[in-house]
Amino acid sequence: MFKKILIANRGEIACRVIKTARRMGIATVAVYSDADRDALHVTMADEAVHIGPSPANQSYIVIDRIIEAVQATGAEAVHPGYGFLSENSRFAQALAAINVAFIGPPVGAIEKMGDKITSKKIAAEAGVSTVPGYMGLIADADEAVKISGEIGYPVMIKASAGGGGKGMRIAWNDAEAREGFQSSKNEAAASFGDDRIFIEKFITQPRHIEIQVLADSHGNTLYLHERECSIQRRNQKVIEEAPSPFLDANTRRAMGEQACALAAAVGYTSAGTVEFIVDGARNFYFLEMNTRLQVEHPVTELITGIDLVEQMIRVAQGEKLAFGQAEVKLNGWAMESRLYAEDPYRGFLPSIGRLSRYRPPAEVATPTHAVRNDTGVFEGGEISMFYDPMVAKLCTWAPTRAAAIEGMRVALDSFEVEGIGHNLPFLSAVMDHPKFVSGDITTAFIAEEYPDGFSGITLAEPDLRRVAAAAAAMNRVAEIRRTRVSGRMDNHERKVGTDWVVRLQDAEYRVSINADRAGATVNFPDVPAMRVESDWTPGTPLARVMVDGRPLVMKVAKITGGFRLRTRGAEIDVRLYSPRQAELAALMPVKLPPDTSRLLLCPMPGLIVKVNVAPGDEVQVGQALCTVEAMKMENILRAECKCVIAKVNAAAGDNLAVDDVIMEFE
Ligand code: ADP
Ligand code: ADP
Ligand code: MG
Repeated sequence: MFKKILIANRGEIACRVIKTARRMGIATVAVYSDADRDALHVTMADEAVHIGPSPANQSYIVIDRIIEAVQATGAEAVHPGYGFLSENSRFAQALAAINVAFIGPPVGAIEKMGDKITSKKIAAEAGVSTVPGYMGLIADADEAVKISGEIGYPVMIKASAGGGGKGMRIAWNDAEAREGFQSSKNEAAASFGDDRIFIEKFITQPRHIEIQVLADSHGNTLYLHERECSIQRRNQKVIEEAPSPFLDANTRRAMGEQACALAAAVGYTSAGTVEFIVDGARNFYFLEMNTRLQVEHPVTELITGIDLVEQMIRVAQGEKLAFGQAEVKLNGWAMESRLYAEDPYRGFLPSIGRLSRYRPPAEVATPTHAVRNDTGVFEGGEISMFYDPMVAKLCTWAPTRAAAIEGMRVALDSFEVEGIGHNLPFLSAVMDHPKFVSGDITTAFIAEEYPDGFSGITLAEPDLRRVAAAAAAMNRVAEIRRTRVSGRMDNHERKVGTDWVVRLQDAEYRVSINADRAGATVNFPDVPAMRVESDWTPGTPLARVMVDGRPLVMKVAKITGGFRLRTRGAEIDVRLYSPRQAELAALMPVKLPPDTSRLLLCPMPGLIVKVNVAPGDEVQVGQALCTVEAMKMENILRAECKCVIAKVNAAAGDNLAVDDVIMEFE
């Protein structure tokens, strides 16, 4: 077995590979850029080598720098993770040239599958069904419009070198084909240094279902079942699960066998993923093959019990797979939620900053319940603008899909993240969405269910009342503490009133509290009393409360006169008044936030790529105003109403901070 391997990646995937290597008794070498000097993967590895400045194109994807690090440390093999150099055949070749193993497939397989146009042709030849479309390259926007018309709208405009949902646009008409061609091309050039574009039919009502394959160099190719990855935003996966709630045993086997046939056709070894798009009638079409470890591989590991990184290392060493197709189990159900540094309330724009608090739920593994969190960050660490905004992958496992979802709800509620914008509220909302819960999902789920973006969740009765009861009990504890601190040592419990008015969302509850040693009974005038028990103390940011014997996990922050509570995707300001205060509060004027509707504010720190309008222009709803690039994504900012541009304060090339005024409207 290898004695030492180098991980040519960063973040959670570098940490994940290090964990398995350590378990196998293999020493590890991390590489890092300037921005990653203090990163978790650097701390975790046995050795670490600095490879250059923060931008990936000056560090993580510079083949020569990685090769130097390999030679300096004497690593015998390299695991590339995903992204970066993982699907770069020149990198695999450079390693072969110095006799170092690439923990991944052979160079030939990477080349054949690495390019979407080529791989589609090979798949078609191997008898795998592919998406109808134009197999050639598109020269310019005019040709994009012409070919789209021939294929028939809607179409998918794609970068041949694409990945990670980047360089891809759906077009429903000529105007979108023109705009989509240009932004796909720009994004592809910026992200992959290769701006070749092709166009295929957009499969409507599609589900993204992919097959995990695993092959050794002794002619054994297996499939480790499927993952359903239909919950996507801008073609980027957000929630994945295994197995798929949509497949029957026959479709599963047919897809598995086609995936293996394709892998065998290109002499594939190691772990790889064949992605399919599946329509409502369970017809499946090949999309692409990812010749690497996939981001969402943990859900497969949880249902099969197979450590994919371990298998990749063994295959790279030349070992034979120790099991056959019949031994690949499909046990229970696994869910994965990708925690992204992005602000769900601001159109999911990337968010950077310091993680002032980062406490994931505890990892557990029992025969009925498992929680796994793959992460590359730590409390106090910085989420920088240089890399992908994925912060962690939270997975749960249970014997059934319903139980895996319930486990995920509680795990999400228990996950504490502060200091950056993040999508935890959105993930919670999806876990409670009836369509998601029923398994009736397509890749359009997010766009269809949240057409105007995500503006948060409001809790309905009786959940809202449970929160009110918990808040009333917590407030009592806080009031007792306050009375004590203010020095009135005697009879402090008696000084805290029993009657309270709880205001939250648009509701108001008048409660009275009977407290005892074990907890509190909260009485409502109109419904039966609720029993609240908790060991929460003031100042603790996470409250685990039992309300009538059922768990309620909430994030707690202090606000004037109450708490800001977050649970199940809802963010609720709760205010608690004595009956007298409640009367007075009703007379207080409401403070209005400043009117910023006449300003276009920069929604995130980023680079202005393009300004589409000039002072005096009249713009229509939805018209593009300018493009801001951040975290490698181009974001087009559009007019929210018909208006006239008064002033433009930024130009292409400007670096702006969040809330900088880009332009003003009349
Ligand atoms: P990437 O390399 O970025 O992962 P893919 O080709 O795998 O690109 O596509 C990413 C996602 O885009 C898919 O999961 C699917 O949701 C959507 N998609 C891609 N091609 C099509 C298509 N022809 N029709 C419908 N959806 C598509
Ligand atoms: P998958 O197809 O495996 O689900 P995606 O296609 O969604 O994964 O994402 C893979 C993308 O992740 C890569 O194309 C790259 O942009 C990005 N990436 C690369 N390295 C890292 C990393 N260390 N941490 C987070 N993201 C990364
Ligand atoms: Mg893909």
